[in-house]
Amino acid sequence: VLEVRDLVKRYGPTTVLDGVGLSVAEHQVVTLIGASGSGKSTLLRCVDLLEEIDDGQVLLDGIDVSDPREDAAAAQRRMAIVFQAFNLFPHMTAAQNVALAPRVVHGVPAGEAQERARDLLTRVGLADLADAHPDRLSGGQQQRVAIARALAVRPRLLLLDEITSALDPELVGEVLTIVRELAVGGVTILMATHEMGFARQVSDRVCFLDGGRVLESGPPDQVLGEPEHERTRQFLARVI
Ligand code: ATP
Ligand code: MG
Repeated sequence: VLEVRDLVKRYGPTTVLDGVGLSVAEHQVVTLIGASGSGKSTLLRCVDLLEEIDDGQVLLDGIDVSDPREDAAAAQRRMAIVFQAFNLFPHMTAAQNVALAPRVVHGVPAGEAQERARDLLTRVGLADLADAHPDRLSGGQQQRVAIARALAVRPRLLLLDEITSALDPELVGEVLTIVRELAVGGVTILMATHEMGFARQVSDRVCFLDGGRVLESGPPDQVLGEPEHERTRQFLARVI
C-alpha cells in the first residue's frame, strides 16, 4: 500500500528526516517508535502530503504521490490521519462530525453518509452517543469519534500519531482496544506511539527512528525484545 523511499525533510538548516525508507503492506500495522523529536510526526505528515518533502518519494499503491505532477488532493482522499488532539467540530454532533468528510469531500449522499457514520460509531462503541456534541464526551470517547471520522472516508491507509498521549491514563485502554480491533479487521495502519506494550501486541513491524533514519526495523519481538543496536537498547531502557 505504502512505500517511502529515501525521504528527506529539512526545516531550515535542520535535517529532520535524512533518508527514511519503509513500506506498509496491505492489512499490515507498522509502528514508528523513537525519542521525542526523532521525526515520527514529521514522517506521518510527509506521508499524508501535509508537508513538502525535500527529497525522496512517497508511493501509494505504486504511484509516486509526492511527485508535484500528481494530484496531491486525490492522494490525500485515500488516506486519513488522526492526531493527538481530537479536533472535532464542537458545534456538530458525533455523527455529524463523522459524516462530514464523506459528504463534503467524497460526495456521498447525506443519508448514506449519516448511515455510515452511525455504523462506524457503533463499531467504536459509541452508538448511544451519536447525537451528542463533543463537549459532552470524555477524551477517550472524543478520540474514538475521531477514529470513526477517519474511517468514514474508507482510507487505503490510516495514519495515527500518538493518539493516546493526550488522554488520561484510564482512558488510554478503550482507544487502544479500538485500534487493536481495526488491526484484526485488516485496516492498513502506519502509526507512531510511545505505548511499547501496545506496539508489541498490535504491530507487524516496528521501525525505530533515530538520527533522521530508520535505524532498525523488524518484527516487534525482535526490535523491542532483542534490539540489534545500542541506540535502540538505550531508547527502550528509557521508555519501558
Ligand atoms: P514527539 O515524540 O515529541 O511527538 P516526533 O518524533 O514526533 O516527537 P517531530 O514532531 O516529527 O518529532 O519533530 C522532529 C523535529 O522537527 C524536531 O526537532 C522538531 O523541533 C522539528 N520540527 C517539527 N515541526 C517543525 C516545524 N514546523 N518547523 C521547524 N521545526 C520543526
Ligand atoms: Mg510527534
